[in-house]
Amino acid sequence: MPSKSKTGREKRQANRIESTDMAAMARELNKIQKDVKKLEKNSKDQNETLKALQKNLTKRTKIDKIIGTCKSCSKKFNLNDRSPRIIACGHTSCQSCLLNKSEIDESDITKKWFKCPECIYSTRLPYERTKDGLPSKNWTIMNHIQN
Ligand SMILES: [Zn+2]
Ligand SMILES: [Zn+2]
Repeated sequence: MPSKSKTGREKRQANRIESTDMAAMARELNKIQKDVKKLEKNSKDQNETLKALQKNLTKRTKIDKIIGTCKSCSKKFNLNDRSPRIIACGHTSCQSCLLNKSEIDESDITKKWFKCPECIYSTRLPYERTKDGLPSKNWTIMNHIQN
């Protein structure tokens, strides 16, 4: 039997299949383009979040430097031996400096003077109204360290 060339009907059918494929591909492409846009938006959002986080971190580092460090010994405050203490002038110094950098009061050797590293004021130690004889802890800084 000789092979027949495609009939008109077969050709039309082939065309229809082809155009159905094209429509499916177009739909697929559309979907991909939407996905790409979505991803681009997500990436933009993430970049903005990252920028905000970096800004916060820089700010936090600055704050740490300004209020998280003892001006007398330049060391970081901690919750124990270098706890921040509010001295008489209102400035804050670490516990270790108060204990180790105070000078004996020559008029009363049971007392000591601690010179504020930030102003001319001196704090007389020990304090009589606190259990440990030291100025009260600076809880704002204590909480900042904890967080
Ligand atoms: Zn100190
Ligand atoms: Zn001071």
